[in-house]
Amino acid sequence: MASCQETGKEKTVSRKLLDPANMDTTVRPGDNFFLYANGTWLKNNPIPGSETRWGSFNELQENNFAALHALLEEAANNKNAAKGSAEQKVGDFYRTGMDSAAIEKAGITPANEVLARIDAITDANGVLKEIATEHTQGIGPLFGFYVGPDDKNVTKQICQFWQGGLGMPDRDYYFKTDERTAKVREAYQKYLGTMHMLMGQDSATAKKNAADIYKLETALAGASMTRVEMRDPYKLYNKFDMAGLNKLTPGINWNTMFADLKVKGQDSCIVGMPAFFKEVSKQLSATPVDVWKTYLKFHVVNDLAPYLSSNFDNARFDFYGKTVRGQQEQKPRWKRVLSTTDGSVGELLGKMYVDKHFKPEAKERMLNLVNNLAETYAARIKRLDWMSEATKQKALAKLGTFIKKIGYPDKWKDYGSLTVVNDNYVKNILASAEFEYNYNIAKLGRPVDKTEWGMTPPTVNAYYNPAFNEIVFPAGILQYPFFDMDADDAVNYGGIGGVIGHEMTHGFDDQGRQYAADGNLQDWWTPEDAEKFNQKAGVVINQFNEYTVLDSVHVNGQLTLGENLADLGGLAISYEAFKKTKQGQSNEKIDGFTPDQRFFLSWAQVWRANTRDEEMANRIMTDPHSPNLWRCNGPLSNMPEFYQAFNVQPGDKMYRADSTRAKVW
Ligand SMILES: [Zn+2]
Repeated sequence: MASCQETGKEKTVSRKLLDPANMDTTVRPGDNFFLYANGTWLKNNPIPGSETRWGSFNELQENNFAALHALLEEAANNKNAAKGSAEQKVGDFYRTGMDSAAIEKAGITPANEVLARIDAITDANGVLKEIATEHTQGIGPLFGFYVGPDDKNVTKQICQFWQGGLGMPDRDYYFKTDERTAKVREAYQKYLGTMHMLMGQDSATAKKNAADIYKLETALAGASMTRVEMRDPYKLYNKFDMAGLNKLTPGINWNTMFADLKVKGQDSCIVGMPAFFKEVSKQLSATPVDVWKTYLKFHVVNDLAPYLSSNFDNARFDFYGKTVRGQQEQKPRWKRVLSTTDGSVGELLGKMYVDKHFKPEAKERMLNLVNNLAETYAARIKRLDWMSEATKQKALAKLGTFIKKIGYPDKWKDYGSLTVVNDNYVKNILASAEFEYNYNIAKLGRPVDKTEWGMTPPTVNAYYNPAFNEIVFPAGILQYPFFDMDADDAVNYGGIGGVIGHEMTHGFDDQGRQYAADGNLQDWWTPEDAEKFNQKAGVVINQFNEYTVLDSVHVNGQLTLGENLADLGGLAISYEAFKKTKQGQSNEKIDGFTPDQRFFLSWAQVWRANTRDEEMANRIMTDPHSPNLWRCNGPLSNMPEFYQAFNVQPGDKMYRADSTRAKVW
């Protein structure tokens, strides 16, 4: 695949940015545009054994990986890097991860210190202390804990506690009765046993421990919120003072917990899911201390397994990779270590990446696109026929204050206090996790720093962050097939334009619309407008609920609502912005396709991907994004401009009667 970021060589402008050879013209565009646009590509690009999904995102990521791989090898082989320098830290991190002989030889020993500490626990208070201690080391057992802006006062940082502690990817895995989920559940219980045998237990003890852990986790899962419930930010906003906290969970002394978490000077916090913590409190006395110790030991080993010897690594892969996601084989070690390096010292590596591979012109061009889309979005808000003037003014104010981050941070994270050694991978991983913990905790009592980034520069993704009211586009995604300096506007607007519009619309989706321009969770809608929004969103929920995958599994219209609204709004905004360009106003065909047709073909190209059944089933439960097929076709089914471009008629499978078409933004 052609790409502009990697070699620095001249691109060949003659390459086909939208290659008709990838299409399947035996499919009618109005029946299944995803297949019409991508059918031959999908046939010719089976999923590699080490992947669970293969498409445009992966192809681009492969290019980024190749670029990062070269940087990592260079850093790892540089014997002269000054101690403490970025190159030394990145190089040693990567090199220790690639030293499979040392890792194999170490076996489980990197986990022994924590395991011995757990062994010494004698009561429930000891369990809590251990959990807090592990958090400060960046391990994070039982629940989620972090410091972030207070949703209703976003200039202030506050401690936030979240549900967690489950070994399966979602609470629903513990309860759903369909055959596929039941199989995963069975495999998980086997896996719990396998891990205990690898930790040296006989099969009877391992089986008992597995059953104990499973029982405890099932209780925790039962008290956990569903992902749909968690879409409501008000449900997650439960502020407690210390007295309130101690009353909520009599089994937990929060003053001690805060001290053990190294939290100072705080008199309140936010608990995302109070029912979960009540259950934890209950289980601290209902579940024997020995079972808690077994539970904690398993989770430490489970978390560290990818970095331990191959027996642990493979057992873990067998469950999480093969069974849950259908992955046939592990990715090569260098890719796994690369991802861990990106996740651990991401801004050190990210700076090397942008220094070498990011072109400043791309930032300028992107900013131009973003501004065009913002202008178009504003015009569309003004034209909305369902929204009152009062709400429109607030919406426009919010849109007008979006922070736009493109490429990489203006201010890089300072890793000065992080030591990376040259002979111990797990030690490096834990050191960086502890560094992140301390970095996060240090935010308490300080002003919120809006220059921070939530993704690393090489990431092939983008995001909207409601507390900062910002849209963020890492360098990694600013490449073909999303964006290309040489592409005609149809390709860029159908690709990255749709993504930009998508992130902007997140500011006004079912969650984002509840945050005001200053980032606070605060209702700025008139009740009538809110009611109308919900009605319109309801049409989108119904539309996506109808879509099936794997024959009988339906898309969850409520879980995916925010992403579907973002796709729908994003594409409509980008289309309108595209129509203002010279190409958008012309009728000049390229490869036989009109500008409008190319715009929609580019959108479809971005979403082309093959996905394994297991991965699909997992994502239906856990991923707020719809499957790629429906991300492509769902928004198009609502757009008259698409119907016109491809002459979609009643009777075509994607055709929706005017009255059932969704239009929000
Ligand atoms: Zn999104």
